[in-house]
Amino acid sequence: MGVSSAIERAIAGKWIAGAGINDAIRRTKELNARGIRTQINYLGELFSDRKDVEESVNTYLKLIERISNEGVKADIAVKSTQIGMLISASYAARSYSKIVGAARRRGVFVWLDMEEVEFVDRTISLYKTQVKNGGVGICIQSYLKRSERDIRNLIRSKAAIRLVKGAHASSKVKDYMPRPWATRNYRKLMGALFMGSGRIMVATHDRSLIDYAIRLDKRYGRKAEYAMLNGIMDRYAEKLASSGRPVSIYVPFGGRWVDYSYRRLKEMSNLKIIVRSILNGE
Ligand SMILES: Cc1cc2nc3c(=O)[nH]c(=O)nc-3n(C[C@H](O)[C@H](O)[C@H](O)COP(=O)(O)OP(=O)(O)OC[C@H]3O[C@@H](n4cnc5c(N)ncnc54)[C@H](O)[C@@H]3O)c2cc1C
Repeated sequence: MGVSSAIERAIAGKWIAGAGINDAIRRTKELNARGIRTQINYLGELFSDRKDVEESVNTYLKLIERISNEGVKADIAVKSTQIGMLISASYAARSYSKIVGAARRRGVFVWLDMEEVEFVDRTISLYKTQVKNGGVGICIQSYLKRSERDIRNLIRSKAAIRLVKGAHASSKVKDYMPRPWATRNYRKLMGALFMGSGRIMVATHDRSLIDYAIRLDKRYGRKAEYAMLNGIMDRYAEKLASSGRPVSIYVPFGGRWVDYSYRRLKEMSNLKIIVRSILNGE
């Protein structure tokens, strides 16, 4: 293994619970013991082969069973292109319905992640096939101009919304706005969420946005949930949880770690953060 791939694996190992369901459950138990729930994601995206989709759906069904049998505090997080969106919308809707049906029977909440901009309409339509019966949430990205309209539309159905800045930008597509704009827009979108949405998840490591959400919590008498990615700000998440706030950590597992890890590497702003991250888990 070359030096660069050894570094990639070392970093990926910090963010990803491991290869199998047991690893995700073990990590969930560690976090639950610190007052933090998890959102477990089975890695995989952009599938065009039905075999990959079926393997993912079956893994989620087993995961739901384990979460329920072991009584751990965990939601699951699924991607639309992982459950068949590239094959057809109706195929994805059948996969989603299988997962959500099993999750509802076991009292497990299902988040739908948001991917590249070309999937936003289809992911929202997929979400709408299940929103009325509850137990499901959707991710919305503040780096897209369209998100304000999407949020206003979704909160009419009391959607549960996980707000993020967004991780699937490409410089070739004009829809993605730069980070400072996405940060300003995040504040604005939080305002709309606190006034109208069902379950609110403030998913960011940006401390100024978390502080702002805490102020909105007080102003609107809400109890937003604060969410971070595994291995990025675990100590801060613990501190937040110990102050009585609901905190959740997104825990990916599985063998397909490359796409996820590259997104995280791009977000590490400088070499100092990378080295510190490998050495002492901050
Ligand atoms: C629970 C959860 C679910 C998510 N789901 C989705 C999804 O479905 N779709 C999607 O597009 N995106 C998703 N994301 C990712 C999100 O869009 C951002 O890419 C990611 O959270 C980084 O943005 P930020 O809000 O932390 O702000 P940034 O401005 O990127 O970062 C703020 C600060 O956090 C720290 N930081 C951020 N990333 C790292 C890192 N990798 N290593 C070390 N420090 C770091 C740095 O100090 C940085 O200055 C999710 C994020 C979370 C927390």
